[in-house]
Amino acid sequence: MEDTIFDKILAGEIPADTVFENDHVIAFRDISPQAPEHVLVVPRNRMTSIAEAPDHDPAVLGHFLQGIALTAERLGLEEGGYRVVFNTGRDAQQTVAYIHAHILGGRKLQWPPG
Ligand code: AMP
Repeated sequence: MEDTIFDKILAGEIPADTVFENDHVIAFRDISPQAPEHVLVVPRNRMTSIAEAPDHDPAVLGHFLQGIALTAERLGLEEGGYRVVFNTGRDAQQTVAYIHAHILGGRKLQWPPG
């Protein structure tokens, strides 16, 4: 499988504006922010999208979920709230074939999304 831009960020080959990391995830600012806070959380264990979750160890998935919550906490978003988005596949316009959670916050978010 070809390396994605997120493999390269994880390998330290290209820079990222990292806001949180631990043994399980790295979280960095989206290069094209759609909200005052827009951060991507990427697990160190590669999978293509959340559609592959049934093939992975629930402990790995749990650490990923915790990494998302810890990142939002680091950004100070717990009080105001935030949205977590997993674009998955073509219809959702997933552009990077490495699973990532978008954390969006810092403003009132519209619902339903487009
Ligand atoms: P998705 O459309 O859900 O696959 O989201 C991919 C996201 O990655 C987009 O929001 C892009 O703006 C973001 N992105 C692409 N390249 C980089 C990069 N080098 N650093 C940070 N974010 C990136």
